[in-house]
Amino acid sequence: MEQKQGIEQFKGQARLPNFAIPKRYDLHLKLDLSACTFSGTVQINVSIVEETKFLVLNALELDVHQVWFTNSHGQKYHPCDVVLDGDDEVLVLVFDKALGIGEGVLGVDFSAVLNAHLVGLYKCAYMDGEEKKNMAVTQFEAVDARRFFPCWDEPALKARFKIALDVPSELTALSNMPIINEKCDGDVKTVSFEESPIMSTYLVAVVVGLFDHIEDTTSDGVKVSAYCPVGKSDKGEFALNVTVMTLDLFSKYFSTPYSLPKLDMVAVPEFSGGAMENYGLITYRETELLFDPLHSTAARKQRMAIVVSHEVAHQWFGNLVTMEWWTDLWLNEGFATWISYMATDILFPEWKVWSQFLQYTTGGLIMDALEQSHPIQVEVHHARSVLEIFDAISYEKGSAVIRMLQAYLGDDIFQKSLSSYIKRYSEKNAKTEDLWSVLSEESGLKISEMMDDWTKKQGYPVISVTAKDHILEFEQTQFLSAGLHSEGKWIVPVTISLGSYERRKNFLLETKSSEVDISDLVDTSDTNLKNKETCDEQLWVKVNIEQSGFYRVKYEDKLAARLRKAIEHNSLEATDKFGILDDAYALCEACELSLSSLLSLMDVYRKEADYIVLSKLIDVCYNIVKVSSEAIPDSVNELKQFCIKSPHVSIRVSSIMLR
Ligand SMILES: [Zn+2]
Repeated sequence: MEQKQGIEQFKGQARLPNFAIPKRYDLHLKLDLSACTFSGTVQINVSIVEETKFLVLNALELDVHQVWFTNSHGQKYHPCDVVLDGDDEVLVLVFDKALGIGEGVLGVDFSAVLNAHLVGLYKCAYMDGEEKKNMAVTQFEAVDARRFFPCWDEPALKARFKIALDVPSELTALSNMPIINEKCDGDVKTVSFEESPIMSTYLVAVVVGLFDHIEDTTSDGVKVSAYCPVGKSDKGEFALNVTVMTLDLFSKYFSTPYSLPKLDMVAVPEFSGGAMENYGLITYRETELLFDPLHSTAARKQRMAIVVSHEVAHQWFGNLVTMEWWTDLWLNEGFATWISYMATDILFPEWKVWSQFLQYTTGGLIMDALEQSHPIQVEVHHARSVLEIFDAISYEKGSAVIRMLQAYLGDDIFQKSLSSYIKRYSEKNAKTEDLWSVLSEESGLKISEMMDDWTKKQGYPVISVTAKDHILEFEQTQFLSAGLHSEGKWIVPVTISLGSYERRKNFLLETKSSEVDISDLVDTSDTNLKNKETCDEQLWVKVNIEQSGFYRVKYEDKLAARLRKAIEHNSLEATDKFGILDDAYALCEACELSLSSLLSLMDVYRKEADYIVLSKLIDVCYNIVKVSSEAIPDSVNELKQFCIKSPHVSIRVSSIMLR
């Protein structure tokens, strides 16, 4: 096809044109940390796949000095026009003569300012004794590698990276790969790093600063180091241990070894997020990496284990296999979040982090019950807008629907599928549908049909359950916190347990309503069942076992009464007790359950001692009193008395001031 003539054709485009594909970047940069500038050269091996007079790549806030292109015959071309478009963040190179199909090297000399905005290559301050000095750190995800060097800054345009840095000789320079050569010349040293395997631009990283470090080795011989502020390296020990353990764990889980020779982690004094999974060089906010056994809280330790596991999981899911475009970033994040809890639960079972996972994903249930919610998978037309959709829906609903799928398929099939997926798409890019295909192949089930309901549609169902003898009736409708009824139908993997966690049944609710015969779960030979009271207790029905599904459940009065007894007799897991209360409160808020029903449920939690159940109970008490003080001021004192009767709740509720 004839190329259009002007450079206007490249304006306002979501993706770069595909005339040329980058294969390898050779980047040599000189950092001046006092003047806060950097300059250097990038030489990019590119394949021209369509004859073109244009090369179009990304660049932002870079001063471009010289540009040249050398083809495989050694012919050198200089562009007749070099246009840096700040709105579209592209560098358009216009050549007089068309560049022919084939290999070539694009060279660009450029310079830029070391910014203070925590994106691209930025400066942050650290103390060297009494003196405040600058260090340099990169943060590229999603689209800021283009502030560091001209590049094809899209996740699917993977390439190899060979990096060399000129830095002050007293500082440590780190990048994705190990150092192969270090040459000192007075105050400056040139640090050269090994060439990387193919990877996406947003995962390239560089850190230059003053650190103390500690190191360890995985059972596969991967060197793991924690770089901490000077004098604080002992505080990196916990994160270092978790990193070594999770590298071993994920290598086994995915049946694929970690693909780089080393993994460094660095505590960065100024950082926009919590942590960033740069390939081989994970950057952390200092508070996410440094742990002081004497002074840090247990909650901090647990959060650190989850954050570290999340970033290490990305080394496979995200770095080795990368989303094709930002639309599928939810899968990276939802997945890394889910598996970080799985890994933490394996390493520290005593923490019971799956119950904390529910506290986390409740945010997704709340947000997705709003009419203004959005589906997990949203078209991202412009890469810079990707961060706008990164909210409770992507992370919390995303990880919750992955957990639901894993619970539905079972650990073995899920693990086998993920390991096939990682192997098949290793060093490549994949879309959400590609993962569903692998899961369908391994399970023999139609996964995308079910999962599209959860990722392409907003909202989720509330399932009403009624019992008639040994038949349970289920009916689904969309749950909205405003109490509005809405049609809507999902393919829901429903789990039921009856009177005991040993007696359980799973089925797929694919229609608006369905009946399930549970007579096979009822042991009619049990003489205790003749006694009605025992019978009712034993026949409690808990739907959505351990809250592994992303939906709410509304029980008819009879079933709700049986569950209250089960809670009183402490027959249920903390996750289920949490879920029953959380669902009941949400239903009450949506005017689908009376306040008196909610209060009778809360009444059976008086002896509760589990942390997550109690914190939910406290939240519910707090919210009820707060809302009632405006809605039913005459009854608020009685409500406060009711809440205060529960000893754990009393402190917070009694502190609420009446307006
Ligand atoms: Zn992540």
